Amino acid sequence: MIRNAVCKFLIIVSLIFLNNSLFAQISVEYFGGAGRVSGSCALLKVDNNSVIIDCGSFYDEGDLPSDNSVIDKKLINADAMVLTHAHNDHSGRVLQLINDGFNGNIYCTDATKKILLEMYDDGWNYDYVKKKYFWSKTKREKMQLRESKENLTLHWHSACKNAVKNREESKTEISPMQLKDKYGINFKVCKNCLNKDLEKLQDRFISVEYKDNIDITDKINFSLYNAGHISGSASVVFYIYDDNKIKTVAFSGDLGSGYSKVTPDKDIIPRVDYVFVETTYGGVKKDISNVDYQKFQETISGAVKNNKIVWIPSLSLHRTQKVLFEIKQAQVNGLIPYDVPVYSLSPSSNGITERYEKEANFPSRDRWFKNEVYQTGSFLPENYITKKPKEFPVPCIVISASGMMDQGVSYGLINKLLPLENVEVCLVSYVGPKTPAGKLKKGAKHIRTTYGTAKVAANVNIFDIFSDHPDIDELMKWLSNQDSSTKIYLVHGDKDILDKALILYKQKGFENTKIAVKGINVLN
Ligand SMILES: [Zn+2]
Ligand SMILES: [Zn+2]
Ligand SMILES: [Zn+2]
Repeated sequence: MIRNAVCKFLIIVSLIFLNNSLFAQISVEYFGGAGRVSGSCALLKVDNNSVIIDCGSFYDEGDLPSDNSVIDKKLINADAMVLTHAHNDHSGRVLQLINDGFNGNIYCTDATKKILLEMYDDGWNYDYVKKKYFWSKTKREKMQLRESKENLTLHWHSACKNAVKNREESKTEISPMQLKDKYGINFKVCKNCLNKDLEKLQDRFISVEYKDNIDITDKINFSLYNAGHISGSASVVFYIYDDNKIKTVAFSGDLGSGYSKVTPDKDIIPRVDYVFVETTYGGVKKDISNVDYQKFQETISGAVKNNKIVWIPSLSLHRTQKVLFEIKQAQVNGLIPYDVPVYSLSPSSNGITERYEKEANFPSRDRWFKNEVYQTGSFLPENYITKKPKEFPVPCIVISASGMMDQGVSYGLINKLLPLENVEVCLVSYVGPKTPAGKLKKGAKHIRTTYGTAKVAANVNIFDIFSDHPDIDELMKWLSNQDSSTKIYLVHGDKDILDKALILYKQKGFENTKIAVKGINVLN
């Protein structure tokens, strides 16, 4: 009798204990973007379910490893993925993940889906996708002999087999990057083979409207909020249910600066239990204002009047389009004559610009842009040219990717343009410290490339106004529904910026702030 009573008592005590403390175990494991900026990728785990938030590429950040070749097995088995936006440091490894066997749905806004498919259509993000590729042996040998800088086409669908004479093929699955290391030449993927894959791939991306509520499992659902960073960008709020209780976990994604002329400003998310916040500029107060756009227009205007070549290395996605829009407005304001040619030379940028033009002409249901852009109906200035001239005329404006000048057309132009005194360089993007643009920003007088060393005679200007990230004041606005009990985790920042931000957040009353670690962050 007594033993029975004791047993009953113990059962009741343990039930109370379970009920109070054992809400489903929630953790967030970071694979990239924690303790650094690039490679954003997190795995939200709730008991046996898991959701990936972003799967981005690493880029060079000082001494940090930036190997993109291997994807962690834990990610492949996740139930689903939510993509915050189309920038490479958040989406650059999605194709790799799918190729490695990830089988879940990929949720994102319709704009993000359309932008990504446009990028994939241009052959982006295949560098580390491992397949059994085949190619022309004749061409491969010729290119090696000539030390050609062109690209050799890689195929993988049997439909292309007959088109490639004297075939050579990889015995095991191998990536275009590994092939480059092996043969010392560049490769690109075949359009036909690519299109076959893209047809299938489209259905994997599920378009989600801002603020809709989407179920992933019976325990997890989520809503997207406009992040105001680039077109289609989103913050994610997850709602996790256990019995009658609910916990909320948010991921800011990258947030807007609050100074974009193109993208509507960010939504403020509701109060949540846990939030992971981007910290690109989270530890600093930025001294920028809309007047800086005027300064940009005037700098170009002055250079053009002095018969100079204005060179603007710029990110392909969203930045090139913002720059074009600004040049267009400078033309309308009478600061740049309509007949000065505006060259946009990177195919990767021009594909996205075309997609933006389509949206500006035929607005979709979600708003990619501010009203002013739809009213103008176009991003393109007069005399917009996408073909590279034999010689650049003076004056002219040249836009090229990448913004860091470490690859693409920008890299190829370093030795041609930097040694010229009549060149005005305008840096409008974030630049890694070790990249050519990073060195230029620090005042380097020589830049070394594989084409030789360029002596810098060009004049260099820096414009922060184009940044699409918030400073500490803008972040505090975004966090205005949170309170001192909200648990805040800082991500997506350089180490010293993260340290500075942590102090600032605590000063502002967010006592429960931490820097998220790479690896597992247990939330409850
Ligand atoms: Zn971004
Ligand atoms: Zn980012
Ligand atoms: Zn092919």
